[in-house]
Amino acid sequence: MGSQEVSTVDWQGKHVTVAGLGVSGIPAARALHERGALVTVVNDGDDERARAQAAELEALGITVRLGDGATLPPSTELVVTAPGWQPDKPLFLAAAEAGVPVWGDVELAWRLRGDNGKKAAPWLAVTGTNGKTTTVRMLASILEAAGLRTAAVGNIGVSLLDAVLGDTEYDVLAVELSSYQLHWAPSLRAHSAAVLNLAPDHLDWHGSMEAYAADKGRVYEGNTVACVYNVADPATEDLVREADVEEGCRAIGFTLGAPGPSQLGVVDGILVDRAFVANRQKQAQELAEVSDVDPPAPHNIANALAAAALARAFGVEPAAVRDGLRAFRPDAHRIEHVADIGEVAYVDDSKATNTHATEASLAAYDSIVWIVGGLAKGATFDELVIGAAKRLRGVVLMGADRALIHEALTRHAPEVPVVDLDRTDTGAMSEAVARAAELARPGDTVLLAPACASMDMFTNYNKRGEAFADAVRARADESA
Ligand code: ADP
Repeated sequence: MGSQEVSTVDWQGKHVTVAGLGVSGIPAARALHERGALVTVVNDGDDERARAQAAELEALGITVRLGDGATLPPSTELVVTAPGWQPDKPLFLAAAEAGVPVWGDVELAWRLRGDNGKKAAPWLAVTGTNGKTTTVRMLASILEAAGLRTAAVGNIGVSLLDAVLGDTEYDVLAVELSSYQLHWAPSLRAHSAAVLNLAPDHLDWHGSMEAYAADKGRVYEGNTVACVYNVADPATEDLVREADVEEGCRAIGFTLGAPGPSQLGVVDGILVDRAFVANRQKQAQELAEVSDVDPPAPHNIANALAAAALARAFGVEPAAVRDGLRAFRPDAHRIEHVADIGEVAYVDDSKATNTHATEASLAAYDSIVWIVGGLAKGATFDELVIGAAKRLRGVVLMGADRALIHEALTRHAPEVPVVDLDRTDTGAMSEAVARAAELARPGDTVLLAPACASMDMFTNYNKRGEAFADAVRARADESA
């Protein structure tokens, strides 16, 4: 049986335990109930919101147990879990002991695709530590430019289950997958997949770097056409080598340099394909110009190449790659150019919430006043500072863990002027911008790239980015 074929499960009377009320749990419980399964939802929390959600499900005939997400109901034949639930939870240990399989939301969507009589669209999957959302959106834009019916779904905020079971018929899906989702997706078989990069993240959840990498690597299992890896990040190529793929599936690299055979890369400002061409030993196909990518920062060119590789693996023509990249606009707070004031550019990369993302962001500019800080989540900053020291005009530190960054700056960039902002009130970001403006010289970029989570001062990274953009716009209005 080909790996892309739809497998069918007889749900009638099957005892399924859904772990976690929430964005994935509720649609999963409903979908399974509609197919005749006997569904019990278990949930740790027992607050007002959970009770209201439980009441709705109970009205349909679904059993809900609030305040006890640890105990496995005795008759359970299958557990369907919210992706964020940590694998060492007692519920999963009990399932393992009883020989009961555990599926995540992605596995369920994979198994149910085609079950509503619609065509089961193949999946082009993207994972990695950073750049997933951007790459998946670029990919969807390219597929659309090729005239294909598609959507960007998955970890991006659009439920895979909704996409798979909804009324819209798709030719192909651009799927963002987190390491958590991959952990719980044993039988997923993408048409083609990319791992963009691998840096330590979420290690508390996975237990170790090896376990994190292994879960990311699951995305390559059973690929039929291409496994796309990052030439500059050999760990991603190792994962391709370890994967068990379909006969004839190819390893395709992407690089910011000139591509070898079976790679996509960059030559003289042009994105070129030396993988999906007739004579790859001798020929390369022009896809787009670097300036077609917004923003044309190195890490974003890498994202564009990965998206192009997946699209080309699906048979998309070069012109559609160019048109799709031209039509793509980045999501907010991802290297977003807010304004130029005088000859200084102000850029919001509030989404740079870890050091790996921030490293990419700092590499995109020559002379930077860096606004940084927040919750460090156990990160260290020495390497980040060493890599960027030469390009720092100055630094404005803010947030709970700013002392850690200050120490790294003292060690590795003692000559760079530092403003240590000791306030966390709502006016703090305005002052950060004002102090950054004092440090900046014509031609510089003031870059908000916090390398940290935002929750010490803001509700989330969106709010942090908005506070920055508001402060910049207020200054721009004043100086107009
Ligand atoms: P994800 O969905 O993986 O979190 P995003 O596309 O939302 O990724 O980008 C998150 C942040 O990561 C961006 O703000 C940018 O700073 C950084 N980033 C984007 N692409 C890359 C990449 N290829 N390598 C390193 N950092 C990146």
